[in-house]
Amino acid sequence: MDILSHALWGGVAFGRAKKRDFWAAFTLGAAPDLLAFTVPSAARLVSYMSGNGLTEGFRHNMADFPQYVFTLYSIGHSLVIFTAVFVGVWLLRKKPYIPLLAWGFHVFLDIFTHSIDFFPTPFLWPFSDYRFNGLSWGHPIIFIPNVLLLALAYGLWAWSRRKDKVMRFEGD
Ligand SMILES: [Zn+2]
Repeated sequence: MDILSHALWGGVAFGRAKKRDFWAAFTLGAAPDLLAFTVPSAARLVSYMSGNGLTEGFRHNMADFPQYVFTLYSIGHSLVIFTAVFVGVWLLRKKPYIPLLAWGFHVFLDIFTHSIDFFPTPFLWPFSDYRFNGLSWGHPIIFIPNVLLLALAYGLWAWSRRKDKVMRFEGD
């Protein structure tokens, strides 16, 4: 899935309790991709601004990415790492940190929305290299329903919040 959809899904699915939780879930929803792509994107921008032009272009080939991107991508897109962190945080706080589930949900969505050709999801890393051959999120069959479902989820949330407010008001 694209990074903005991940952030929006994280927020609406696991950040509805309070405002701070929303932004935490929004950020954690985007985190696996931020972790892997912030540095190479910044490097490309610096190279562009230092007058090298866009000779590098946009990278559509996996082979064009430096090795550390794959390592960071594997760490962020592993359900093994996610589960270990989620349980670790749970033990430390003595209660689960719900916005963190946005990270796990990111990985879950990516498993099915990346084809084997472009960053398939290494969700069993480091134990297994198995990757599912899904359908790319850029495909209209995925992308259009995704936008519609996001709009529906946020619409329902806004509607239920309004209803809550009205009910509280009437209860006074
Ligand atoms: Zn991702």
